[in-house]
Formats: sequence, structure tokens, C-alpha cells
Amino acid sequence: AKTTGPGRYEFFDVALRERLQRRLRLEQDLRRAVLNEELWVAYQPVVELATGRTVGVEALLRWNQPVLGVISPVEFIPLAEESDLINKIGIQTLQTTTRDMAKRRRELGLDLQVAVNLSARQLDDPDLLVTVERALHRAMLPPEALCLEITETTLMRDPAGAAMKLQALRRLGVSLAIDDFGTGYASLAQLLRLPLDVLKIDQSFVRELGHSREAEGIVGGIVAMAHSVGLIVIAEGVETARQAKILRRLGCDQAQGYYFGRPESTKSWLPPAA
Ligand code: C2E
Ligand code: CA
Ligand code: CA
Ligand code: CA
Repeated sequence: AKTTGPGRYEFFDVALRERLQRRLRLEQDLRRAVLNEELWVAYQPVVELATGRTVGVEALLRWNQPVLGVISPVEFIPLAEESDLINKIGIQTLQTTTRDMAKRRRELGLDLQVAVNLSARQLDDPDLLVTVERALHRAMLPPEALCLEITETTLMRDPAGAAMKLQALRRLGVSLAIDDFGTGYASLAQLLRLPLDVLKIDQSFVRELGHSREAEGIVGGIVAMAHSVGLIVIAEGVETARQAKILRRLGCDQAQGYYFGRPESTKSWLPPAA
């Protein structure tokens, strides 16, 4: 009975004000954080299911806010996207990750790949090609060692425009992944028109594996469809041995998730090959 009463209203008002205050504070702080290099990159291993070998890593941004602690990219990337900050963050991330990966490949003598997430604003940035090319060149990293991940939702905003941008990126020799597949409304026909190399199955599907037959059917179907057009399939958010086993049986190529390794700083990522 209190849902529309004055007490209730005030409660929402306070909660809303707190959310807005936190947001304002983070927005102002993010600019300083970029300059102070409070942002850093964590790396999570990507494992080949058939062999258990680590074939690469995904770069995931972190922000150590001095007062509030570690802030998730889920919270600060959208804020950065609302201003020009995302471009600066994107450039820094590409530079850091290509350099880190070039170093790690030299140390280990392995052909590992690093995957970097691109936001919608970055894909729209006319300087993106130059930024990617320059980062690779400066780091002396071969283009095939870089994979750029773009979410299904970003790609589907403007499929025709995206196709042209992806084509140009691909000419550089980098590989391209569709991220969070299954969370948007991409149709198979639309997907086939995009020049992609990798399809990443969202963790919401992986979570259901072992609980529902239906989920197995869906994931198996995605894998078969992706393979039929030559895509490599990576499953995200694998947390148990059981999920890994099912994915392997369904023919999924690679996987990442807490079961294989958490995102970690460069100091600990990819232990030297035995
Ligand atoms: P994403 O690209 O889908 O990344 C996967 C997310 O799942 C990461 O969250 C990762 O830490 C988390 N994860 C990995 N394994 C597991 C698992 O086994 N279980 C569960 N529950 N979660 C797992 P994170 O690091 O918080 O990043 C969230 C999102 O922020 C990313 O989702 C990506 O969309 C975005 N993001 C991160 N770094 C960047 C970046 O450098 N640029 C852009 N534009 N976006 C980024
Ligand atoms: Ca990703
Ligand atoms: Ca994802
Ligand atoms: Ca996601």
C-alpha cells in the first residue's frame, strides 16, 4: 500500500540522488584517472579445448579508484563513451596491450594472440585504422597476433556500415571477433555478410550448460553454424570442468572463464610454458 505513498517516493529520490552523485563523481574523476594512469589492463587466458593449451588472452580494463576501489568497466566504459575520453582510453589500451603481448611472445617464443574490446564510439572513429596500425608497428607485433572484439549489439546498429569498417580493419591483417553473441538480435543472414574470424558465445548460454538440454542444443547449433562459415568459436564464462567438457563435446574450439583463469595483471599472466 506504500508503493505510491510519500515515504516510498522519498526513498527512490535518495537512491536516485546517490546514483547520480556517484556517476558525476566518476565522470569527473575518469579524466584525471586517464592522465594519472589509474587504468590498467588485466589479461584472461583463452584456452584451446582439445589440448588445454593457452592460445591467447583477452585484455580487460580495470580502474583502481583511490577512494572507491576497483571500478568495473561495466560502470566506467559507458561513462567514457559519453565523452571523447573513450578514444583516448582506446588508444592507450591498444598501445599497452600490443606492447605487453609483443614482450610476452618474445619471452615465451609462442604465437599467442591478444584480444582487445572495441566500443561503438571507437568503431565510429575515423582514426581507428591508423591507431591500430601504429600500435602494431610501434610494438613490432604482427597483425595476426591481435584480435579486435566488437559486440553483436554494436555491429547491428548499422550492419552495412560495420561491414565496410570491418573489411578495412581486416585488410590490416588483424582478426575480428563478434562478442557477446546471442545477446542481441543479429540474424544468421546478417552475420554471414560480415567479415569475421571469431564468434564468442555469451556466458549466459554457457551458464545453462549441464542444467538444460535445450542450452546444449542451442550452443551446439551455434557452433555448427559458425563452423559452416569458417568461424572459430570461443565460449565465455566457463566456470566448471563440466561446462568445459560439454563445450568440448559440442565442438567448441576455445574457451575462457574462471575455470581456466581469472583476469590478472601482466605480472602473473601466462606462466612460462613448461
Ligand atoms: P566482455 O568483453 O564480455 O568480457 C567478459 C567479462 O566476463 C569480463 O568482465 C570478465 O572478467 C568476465 N568473466 C570472465 N570469465 C568469467 C567467468 O568465468 N564467470 C563470470 N561470471 N565472469 C567472467 P569485466 O572484466 O568486468 O568486463 C566487462 C565488460 O567491459 C567486457 O565484457 C567488455 O564489454 C567491457 N570492457 C572491458 N575492457 C574493455 C576495453 O578495454 N574496452 C572496451 N570498449 N570495453 C571493455
Ligand atoms: Ca570481450
Ligand atoms: Ca563477451
Ligand atoms: Ca559481456
